[in-house]
Amino acid sequence: MIDFQKVLENEQSLDPQKWDEMKTLAHQMVDDMFAYLQNIRNEPVWRKPTQESKANLDKPLPQKGEDITQIYQSFKENILPFNKGNVHPRFWSWVQGTGTPFAMMAEMLAAGMNPNAAIGEHSAMYVENQVIDWCKQMLNYPAEASGLLLSGGSMANITALLIARNNFEDKNIRQKGLKAAPHQLVLYASTETHSCVQKAVEVCGLGSEAIRNVRVNADFQMDIAHLKELIAKDRKNGFAPFCIVGNAGTVNTGAIDPLDDILEVCKHENLWFHVDGAFGALAKLTPEYQTALKAIESADSIAFDLHKWMYMPYEVGCLLVKDKEAHRNSFALQPSYLLSHERGLAAGPDPITNYGMELSRGFKSLKVWMSFKEHGIEKFATLVRQNIAQAFYLESLIKQEPMIELLAPVTMNIVCFRFNPQNLTEEKLFSLNKEILMRLHEDGLAAPSYTILHGKYAIRMANVNHRSQKSDFEALVSDVIRLGLAIS
Ligand SMILES: *Cc1c(COP(=O)(O)O)cnc(C)c1O
Repeated sequence: MIDFQKVLENEQSLDPQKWDEMKTLAHQMVDDMFAYLQNIRNEPVWRKPTQESKANLDKPLPQKGEDITQIYQSFKENILPFNKGNVHPRFWSWVQGTGTPFAMMAEMLAAGMNPNAAIGEHSAMYVENQVIDWCKQMLNYPAEASGLLLSGGSMANITALLIARNNFEDKNIRQKGLKAAPHQLVLYASTETHSCVQKAVEVCGLGSEAIRNVRVNADFQMDIAHLKELIAKDRKNGFAPFCIVGNAGTVNTGAIDPLDDILEVCKHENLWFHVDGAFGALAKLTPEYQTALKAIESADSIAFDLHKWMYMPYEVGCLLVKDKEAHRNSFALQPSYLLSHERGLAAGPDPITNYGMELSRGFKSLKVWMSFKEHGIEKFATLVRQNIAQAFYLESLIKQEPMIELLAPVTMNIVCFRFNPQNLTEEKLFSLNKEILMRLHEDGLAAPSYTILHGKYAIRMANVNHRSQKSDFEALVSDVIRLGLAIS
């Protein structure tokens, strides 16, 4: 038997014993992080974690508490210096946002309040709904639409496809499972579609063979004639088309599918129109991309990230769904322990958990709410436009350099290119450019990433960085040439 009496005589908590001491350290942490962000330009983009730092992160489970000052010291020595680098002005890898100092502080406030933003009558529920409403206004999406904040684009895409699947005709797939569908459901997406869509289709229980890979044209946009051909063939062969995924900015090159044409096909064929606009949807804030992205307003669902092109700290993505009931019907459940009450803490807005898989949810809307207010949407539009202008600037620099070859048309914020001194085989160019990229990283000069286009290794610059300046792109071009000449 446990001696409970003794336990009760010695009650403890996780709060500090010396509040003032921790508060002093906390102020130091704020000072240090502000200095870190303020001086980040003078640091290398990336540093390889040292053997020592890795060894220090490979220790047994602590049994006893340690001194917080020493823990913080270990953070400063073993963790902070080996950061990924997406806070740096010359980071353009994958598609990764930069974060901001004010949003960093919002994260601290959210963690301090620590509400579970799932259910109840409390401020986080209203902040969340406010941010969803602002996201709709930002994209000129219907005001009656529903929405949900998620950890990112992958989760927003899968949530959208689950809703599309569950609402296929009146088959009650949510209740009866896929066996209720008259035929194998199939979905259409271009070959340039992000891999998270395949994962989503797999998790939806359809199997990856349910994806029809639509060809792309020379500009990496969906070939609509091929799309129509595939749908006709599927209908003839007894498959059940249910959804088309359009890309508003593909991950490889930033291509925008012909969304108007896809919308047309969806209407004609009675299919769910989902848009993956992970970063590209935000280009809708600029006058130049209004037309190309107009069809987003008519999409059944749109997935996009706020941690990419809205520069929020990780994580926060958004899903908007035009038909609120279709959305709610896919996830709502009211077990006895989650019933909404008329008054008290268990009252409040429709539980957010009725709109997605997650029950426990953090207060990720606070950083968005504070940041939208801090800058105003016009400032974000200016920065998105600046990032696009910088990509075209890099393209113009590349076009002036006979030793650098553009590998895809620049349409938004992504530039794919390679060093090509004209006298090397394809095989050699592949390994040379890969080597150049690894050297750029290792020397801490710049962090573009990579992709493979038509078998060619491309150095890929994806710009969702509010700290980048013109000179950073000039440095990238000269570093690539210098390294290329030195290695080849
Ligand atoms: C980044 C990205 C995703 C995935 O979003 P996460 O936030 O990383 O989960 C999906 N589609 C496209 C086009 C992307 O760029």
